[in-house]
Amino acid sequence: MQINLTGKVAVVTGAGRGIGKGIARALADAHAGVIVNDVDLKAAEVGARGIEAQGGKALPVKADVRKGDEIGRMVETAVKDLGGIHIWVNNAGIVLRKPAEEIAEEEWDKLIDINLKGTFLCAQAAAKAMIKGGKGGRIINISSIMGGVALPPRAAYCASKGGIIALTKDLAAEWAKHGITVNGIAPGWTLTEMTQYYFSQEPVRQFLLERIPLNRLGKPEDIAHMAVFLASEYSDYITGQTIYVDGGWTIL
Ligand code: NAD
Repeated sequence: MQINLTGKVAVVTGAGRGIGKGIARALADAHAGVIVNDVDLKAAEVGARGIEAQGGKALPVKADVRKGDEIGRMVETAVKDLGGIHIWVNNAGIVLRKPAEEIAEEEWDKLIDINLKGTFLCAQAAAKAMIKGGKGGRIINISSIMGGVALPPRAAYCASKGGIIALTKDLAAEWAKHGITVNGIAPGWTLTEMTQYYFSQEPVRQFLLERIPLNRLGKPEDIAHMAVFLASEYSDYITGQTIYVDGGWTIL
């Protein structure tokens, strides 16, 4: 199975570091042109430069996924400078680890705005461009194991990621008639800047390793490989699904 995305253009949100960076790199390795989005322009630029250094095609774009006008400008850039939008990966996200009774309203709103509203606004903008392009497309939403199971204290995060799983199903049903598939990936514990500090605490690390059937933490590449598959023709008959890439965490 050789995946070749030559001629396709992908947008990956929150791709300046971590899982998004890995996904952007893997899509570029499969020969897609990639918009490396992040709210942090410097991070987006570093990510894009890394891809170009490997011979790939990438463009950094600063945009906040909570803001419709900034997403709109990113869509215009993708269409004007790279020739369209065929693949869109909603990866940008934040986490909040705090007892539910202590979460402030602003903290709840901020997390839901980035993780859930941001995913919706981006998917909507992507679908509009894909419908206009007339050739269908692929939307991939990054959820989490915590969209399906709890690991307290993360009420807002779990709610946002569970929401993404439900949203993925609805959008898949609505946009199937346009040849757009909408799928999700639910990563398990993956080593990134987001999780570095948490995993570096030895008791936490030991607990996780003992609890993960495959006995290791995930790498951004583990998630990226699934994203490339879902972006490719090999997943043509899959839509509305969220695939757990978690070393077996959710089977216990
Ligand atoms: P990370 O914090 O390392 O990277 C997230 C990136 O998103 C950062 O570069 C950040 O600047 C960007 N970002 C944040 N808010 C943004 C906004 N409003 N607009 C645009 N970009 C924004 O995180 P990560 O660990 O790579 O996680 C990526 C995704 O995977 C998140 O949605 C996260 O919830 C999910 N996830 C991660 C893990 C894990 O163990 N790392 C597990 C399950 C799910």
